[in-house]
Formats: sequence, structure tokens, C-alpha cells
Amino acid sequence: MNASSNPILRIEGVGKAFGPVTAVDDVTLDIRENEFFALLGPSGCGKTTLLRMLAGFESPNAGRILLEGKDISPLPPEKRPLNLMFQSYALFPHMTVRQNLSYGLEMERLARTEIHRRVDETMATTDLTQFADRKPEQLSGGQKQRVALARALVKRPKVLLLDEPLGALDKKLREKMQLELKRMQNEVGITFIIVTHDQEEALVMADRMAILKDGRLLQVGAPEDVYERPADRFVANFIGVMNFIDGKVGVDGLFAAEGLQVKASGNAGSATLAVRPENIVIGPPGDLPVSGAIVDIAYHGLDRVLHVKTTASATPLQVRIPASGAGNWKIGDALSLKIDPARCRLFQ
Ligand code: ATP
Repeated sequence: MNASSNPILRIEGVGKAFGPVTAVDDVTLDIRENEFFALLGPSGCGKTTLLRMLAGFESPNAGRILLEGKDISPLPPEKRPLNLMFQSYALFPHMTVRQNLSYGLEMERLARTEIHRRVDETMATTDLTQFADRKPEQLSGGQKQRVALARALVKRPKVLLLDEPLGALDKKLREKMQLELKRMQNEVGITFIIVTHDQEEALVMADRMAILKDGRLLQVGAPEDVYERPADRFVANFIGVMNFIDGKVGVDGLFAAEGLQVKASGNAGSATLAVRPENIVIGPPGDLPVSGAIVDIAYHGLDRVLHVKTTASATPLQVRIPASGAGNWKIGDALSLKIDPARCRLFQ
């Protein structure tokens, strides 16, 4: 199921302060139906506070939260058609997987057969059928994580809120679960809002993402928008790897730094050129406009990152090249490079 363009949730000028600390500052954001949405930002940027306000565990000092056009601000958590999956899983240790899933539905006094049907269906979606009779202590970390997710899904919320859901898993399992979460979200067709501080995770999973810093919303967009067209220096640096070259835009509209000229349009004055490591082309010395020397080479499996010292920037530029095309480049080699003006950003 694909995300539609109808907003299911509207966050309107929402703010929250804890005494002198402004945790969330005037955030306005629409989240679409069936969308996998990520709230991303460094520690302390206000992501969890925003999620807790959606769930009803904190109340905003300013603004409104609308679900399908209705203000849910006055509703307590249990009356909201949103469900929060906790970071700590919070499974009942003495109950089996099936009992953990059934519990919430029994509280809602659903009929036995309906509970059975829904629990079976949810266990199938989350690959838990074979563990139905096990208790949490008999499960691996990834399986427990799936039970926590299943328990939130079985109640069929309109929106599922996930606070760092993969935080407790090791890297390999985390990467596997990122894809599984995305598959499950697609299958159940529920809007997922996930909080993460891991930019890779947001890029892999999200249909769209919001980047927050110091409680403020800096940018909202699809992963490729944010990666290709970061709104400011902070976002450019936070998402992926970025080279920054300080220089000036002249009256001719050309960006120039020591030994480097790029046709990037901007206003005359000081400026910073931002270019991704994959958007720099290298060649033998003298072939391309900028000359440099390799000071370091980092091997990353499929590709290699050359650290190249040039006159254009104080810190070496990172240049990503496929391992297959890496040739015989060695530390100390001289080379030349070129920056494609269409693939870089100018910040002023
Ligand atoms: P992390 O990734 O570290 O969990 P976060 O982006 O989720 O961070 P929040 O937990 O939302 O950030 O916190 C935002 C700011 O509000 C922080 O400066 C935090 O110290 C402060 N804060 C959060 N909850 C409270 C509280 N109950 N009382 C006082 N300050 C709080």
C-alpha cells in the first residue's frame, strides 16, 4: 500500500517547554495516511517529546494536534487511536506471546473468536506464529522486538508511534529489522511515525522524514530530497557525509576557493560549497582542474573513500570511488579532481 497525500495527522504550531528548556519550538507538520515517517535529529532535539505529545503523555504549551481533522489535544492517551511502542518493549514476562498479544484486546472486551482471529493474523504478519506459546525470556532480542511491535499492531491503531524501536539491537539485526519493519508497515497499511537519531535508518525506512534541531523543524522531505537538497549546513552535515569548502562568490557569480572555481550561482560574498564524496570525479595529475594528493584511503567493501588534500580546503576532501574502479591509487599519489556544479550546494 502506498502513502496517500491526505494528511492523517496535523501538527500545528506545537511547542513544549520544561521550565527554562524549550524542548519543541513551534513545529508545524503534516503526516500522510499510510506513510512511514521518521523524526530525526541529534540527542536532545525534541523528537521524543514530540512523539509523547502525539501519544498524549505530554501536553503541548502551544498549538494543536489534529487527527483526521479533529483536535485530539484534550484526549488522554488511552482514548487516542494512536499506539506507542516503547523502546523497552514492556512485555509481560509471565505471559506467552499469544497472551501478550491477546491482553489488550481482552481489556477492550472483544469476542473470543475475534481476539483469536486478530492475534493469529498479527502473528503471521510479524513472523511469530511458531513462537506463540513461548514466553519473552525464551526469545531472542529481534523476536522480542517483533512481539512488542505485534502487540501494538494487534490493536489496529490509525497511527503507530515507535520510539527508537531498533535501539537495543546489534547492527546486523538492526539492518534486517529495518527492512522487515518497512515490509510490515506496507502490509498492514498503518501510518508509522518513528523516532530515530540514526540517519542511515531514516534514509532506509522512511517515505518522508523531518529533521529537528534544538526543538525546531529544519526540513521535511523524502530521503532523496533531504540528501540531495539539504536546507542548510546543519542538515547537509547531519545526513550522510559532506565536504565543505569555504570560499567566495565573485561579482561574476562564480564560486571560488584557493585553486578551485565552480559555476555555482549565488550572491557575491562569502559562501560555503557543499559536495558529496560521490560527486567528485578524479583523474591522473593534470587532467582535471584541481590538483591534490591522497593522504588516506578508507576501504568500505563496495567502495573506497580517498581523503585528498587540495589547496581548496583546510580539511582533506573525501572522494568516494567504487572499489572496482579504484585502480592502483595509493597514499601519497598525486591526482586531479573536478566538482560537478550541478551536484553541489552553495550555503551563504
Ligand atoms: P534523545 O535522542 O537523546 O532521546 P530527543 O531528541 O528525544 O533526545 P527529548 O527527550 O525530546 O530529546 O528532549 C528535548 C529536550 O527537553 C532536552 O533538552 C531534554 O533535556 C528536555 N526534556 C525532556 N523531557 C524533560 C522533562 N520531563 N523535564 C525537563 N526537561 C526535559
